[in-house]
Amino acid sequence: MKFGGTSVQDANAIEQVTSIVRSKLSRRPVIVVSAMARVTDTLVRCAELAHEGDESQAVRLIEHDLRERHHEVINKLMQESSRRKASQTTVDRYLDQVKELLHGLALLGELTPRSLASITSRGEYLSSTIISEAMQERGLNAELIDARQLITTDENYANATPLMEVSEARCKTVVNPLLERGSVPVTQGFIGQTSDGVTTTLGRGGSDYSAAILGALLGAEVIEIWTDVDGILTADPKIVPQAHVLERVTFQEASELAYFGAKVLHPSTILPAVRSNIPVHVYNTKRPESPGTHIVSGENHGSSNGVVKSIASKKGITIVNVYSARMLLAHGFLKSIFEVFDEFETPVDIVSTSEVNVSLTIDNTSNLQPILDKLKKFSSVTFEQNKAIVCVVGERMCDTPGIAARVFSSIRDVNVKMISQGASEINLSFLVNETEVPTVVRRLHPEFFG
Ligand code: ADP
Ligand code: ASP
Ligand code: MG
Repeated sequence: MKFGGTSVQDANAIEQVTSIVRSKLSRRPVIVVSAMARVTDTLVRCAELAHEGDESQAVRLIEHDLRERHHEVINKLMQESSRRKASQTTVDRYLDQVKELLHGLALLGELTPRSLASITSRGEYLSSTIISEAMQERGLNAELIDARQLITTDENYANATPLMEVSEARCKTVVNPLLERGSVPVTQGFIGQTSDGVTTTLGRGGSDYSAAILGALLGAEVIEIWTDVDGILTADPKIVPQAHVLERVTFQEASELAYFGAKVLHPSTILPAVRSNIPVHVYNTKRPESPGTHIVSGENHGSSNGVVKSIASKKGITIVNVYSARMLLAHGFLKSIFEVFDEFETPVDIVSTSEVNVSLTIDNTSNLQPILDKLKKFSSVTFEQNKAIVCVVGERMCDTPGIAARVFSSIRDVNVKMISQGASEINLSFLVNETEVPTVVRRLHPEFFG
């Protein structure tokens, strides 16, 4: 059971989490928690401030935002004074460590992925300390486990990939004995460590991924993602308030949705679950009685929904256009383009080609300039920023004519680029200007969902 940031954002939310966990004790749950809502953002901001030389503003955020908030939650949740004191001491220790790390950043004027991971990981240490203590005070046999004991990763510090074999042995050795003695293991999402013992994080939103990794490695019956909406919806409810809950989606649909921007699941979450064929359920912490969404394997013929299941969108996309009249028809041209992206470790999301041009989209622009420089050695290159991918997903789209016509006629006045239908044929995606995302999604939604 994984509880996200808003699900643990304050004392009331943590009370609610405790009662949900209590109702599932007979199923022997393992609990994975995120940092309290907005805490990771604040830690990232502090790191940037310190790096830019404004350490005092960073320290103000630690003291007046993070320390006050966590102390307030402890004071509300814990009546036993020794427990309250112990929690306060632990929380203070983590925050003091963050301040020391920030001071180091300010002195060095350097912010590496490794130091960022070390700083942001503290958000989950803070929340998991409080949650496990609160559960114990409420009579649950909660035992806190440091996620670094469970998940070993590669050395991509801020966006690490788990090493599943090593992690499997660790998870089983550490977690199983706890379950056998009737305890409720509580651990941090988002965090792992390299085989040399350096703290890593699994990328923003990575607690879902942690839950899926643990679920898969422990052979869980089900992986439950507890969040702030009723499940996976037909669109982001922040854009389309009328969006409704999907009872069932397939692994493949969920994976395309997550990859193309449905933040409700981290895109990597599905993979470990698929590999071990463990169902993933998404539930609302505020409405635990609602049925949620079940992500299941196989085709979705039982669905009462239409062919299109959901609409996702992802902002902050850059298009790179590569032109070469001379070389496109020559073999090896695409290879030389992709080698450049590979060299700079930049994933490409969507590709479209014409006879003289290849367009590619990326969302990580940290190496944009060196990529452009290198491409310019054998082609002419332009780029366009502030674009967004809009993606329409549905398992049966491939054998249903007319979907594209409905999509594009409902947004006929919008300038659309790079239309692409994936090989899986369960998604139709295209690029628009970022500012047009709300309009586009709000027009598409009634077209497919009434
Ligand atoms: P958590 O903190 O629990 O991990 P997130 O904020 O990461 O929660 O993800 C939940 C949010 O995902 C929702 O509040 C919603 O705005 C957003 N979202 C985007 N697309 C969808 C979708 N198709 N279905 C449900 N939620 C979505
Ligand atoms: N706290 C981390 C983040 O905000 C991980 C997560 O919540 O999933 O990115
Ligand atoms: Mg999330």
